[in-house]
Amino acid sequence: MEVIYSINDLRARIRSYRRNNDQSVGFVPTMGFLHEGHASLLNEARQQSGLVVLSIFVNPLQFGPNEDFEQYPRNTEQDLQVAEAAGVDIVFIPEVKEMYPVPMHTNVSVTGLTSRLCGASRPGHFDGVATVVSKLFHLVQPDQAFFGLKDAQQVAVIQQMVNDLNIPVEIIPCPILREPNGLAMSSRNVYLSVDERKQALVLSQSLEKAKDFVQANSSYTSVELKELVTEHIASAPLAEIDYVEVLAYPTLEPLENSISRSSDHPTSFIIALAVKFGKTRLIDNLIL
Ligand code: AMP
Repeated sequence: MEVIYSINDLRARIRSYRRNNDQSVGFVPTMGFLHEGHASLLNEARQQSGLVVLSIFVNPLQFGPNEDFEQYPRNTEQDLQVAEAAGVDIVFIPEVKEMYPVPMHTNVSVTGLTSRLCGASRPGHFDGVATVVSKLFHLVQPDQAFFGLKDAQQVAVIQQMVNDLNIPVEIIPCPILREPNGLAMSSRNVYLSVDERKQALVLSQSLEKAKDFVQANSSYTSVELKELVTEHIASAPLAEIDYVEVLAYPTLEPLENSISRSSDHPTSFIIALAVKFGKTRLIDNLIL
């Protein structure tokens, strides 16, 4: 496994691989502090791609002024162990000044999709994501890029950007990895106190309840699902709900009619939520 810090070295390495191989390049962009969720993306990339490239970059552009950029957990040594175990070929770890040597005057902004959910709660967040992912796609030039459905809105935004800008990369969405108790794995889970971590189980439980409800009823409304999920989350005293939404996926359009198993059933819809426990904002979702 090779660890690369500079854009020039990365480009040279990818060029040389392309010259000598006709296998695909798979790419997994992350902010590091890797856990099994990230490892599952790396394993998928290892299965599908000839060369597996992992990036670790805590991207300042996607954090708001009062968010946790400075405090975001970092542990490169441990990350390299996870990467090695997953069979990664190249780890790209640029410094902020390598990615942004001068102030940016270009911004990649996906409209529409980003006006809801985390886009509404975190203004500018998806501009930062789309801009850095676009830069990374230009640097790595992957055939496939692997993204977790933990961040389902991010997957939709990146897919839209790739379609709109004809970026020649296949976006591969990967399932959410959870702790055995249901808590969706996240680098930010380390912020949780023992109590908060216990109460955060209401998130995955509420989605499970919604799933059971959907399976038990032939017709229901998005409002009913939203109420059911909201009510269960509110049973945790430490939970402060940012949003609970039921929308079509991946368009993230509101669902006008009741949802039923008949032919007017949307192909797919998402129950998405963001909830704060103390200072920690957690997201989770279920796509049905
Ligand atoms: P992050 O380091 O949080 O920016 O995440 C990097 C990638 O890992 C994103 O595509 C995330 O969606 C994905 N990811 C994070 N947590 C999980 C999880 N629990 N299950 C699956 N993918 C995840």
